[in-house]
Amino acid sequence: MKMMKAIRLYGPRDLRLEEVPCPASPERGEVLVRVRSVGICGSDLHTFRHARIGDTVCTTPFIMGHEFSGVVQVVGEGPTGGDGLLVHPGDRVAVDPAQPCGVCELCKKGHSNLCPHLRFLGHYPHDGSLCEWIRVPARNCFRVPDLIDDEEAALLEPLGVALHSVSLPRVKPGDSAAVIGAGPIGLCVLQVLKGVGIDPVFVMEKLPWRSKLAGRLGASVVSGSDAQGVQEVLDRTAGRGVDVAFEAAWSDNSVQHCAEIVRPGGKLMVIGISDDDKLYLKHSTARRKGITILMVRRMKHTYPDAIDLVLRRIVDLKTLITHRFRLEQTPDAFALNAAYDDGIAKAIIQV
Ligand SMILES: [Zn+2]
Ligand SMILES: [Zn+2]
Repeated sequence: MKMMKAIRLYGPRDLRLEEVPCPASPERGEVLVRVRSVGICGSDLHTFRHARIGDTVCTTPFIMGHEFSGVVQVVGEGPTGGDGLLVHPGDRVAVDPAQPCGVCELCKKGHSNLCPHLRFLGHYPHDGSLCEWIRVPARNCFRVPDLIDDEEAALLEPLGVALHSVSLPRVKPGDSAAVIGAGPIGLCVLQVLKGVGIDPVFVMEKLPWRSKLAGRLGASVVSGSDAQGVQEVLDRTAGRGVDVAFEAAWSDNSVQHCAEIVRPGGKLMVIGISDDDKLYLKHSTARRKGITILMVRRMKHTYPDAIDLVLRRIVDLKTLITHRFRLEQTPDAFALNAAYDDGIAKAIIQV
């Protein structure tokens, strides 16, 4: 049997490089992809640190990784891609890790991201992309133009999440916004907001190098954090607050801070994942302001728009990448990323 290298999670902070069997030949509607670039996501760091995310507990080894791109090597019969065109061997593709059932009520109503039968690559128990080869449905593959490189293609996934997050609160011209957390998702949200003309976009972030990145990408950077940062945003908006506040951090105190900086009647968008699976928000803050609280669940068919925004250079994904590692170095990459050290924003694994 042909073998390949893969990174599997065995328990908290226990990633191992292993030899596992290569995937079988693609069946009808499937393709075999040679993985090129994989991004490490904040959600991966939750899984890495605790072998758990939300109420999903990882009890057997599995391959992590869901933000990825690669080259199609073998195609099964009738391989129609996400753009409706046939996928061919040699095509460079970004792969949507979400595989909704397509037939349930939510899928039929256009909410495939909420499909209760959804399979998500790299989310336990489904194997992901931190390996050399992966077999995926052709419809999950989106062809990537040459002007977008493999690393950028991998980051179309978090950009898609950001796009979906900005679409839910229906921000409109003239709105102001704030983003708490300038990790890769927060920085994508910032760029999408700036791209649709939202100004100002305040960004509050504790890690100084990430604040700097946010500034370079057009943010009105808040110099303080926590209560001080909240006061600063209120001062800079003459006490009014912003129309929409995006929580893109650890979903801890940051949710409350978002509620404090949003205007009465404004919207609070929760994107971050909380470590202890709880949401902390003072009831009175949200009630007295009549805030609308929205939660984002992944995304739906946002790859074409994400590709377009990167091609038109409205969103710069390259600037987010601060670290690169080889597949063999993945355990070190996760350890460094989980320590939030060394100026890290986005780490890419080059397979
Ligand atoms: Zn992700
Ligand atoms: Zn479904």
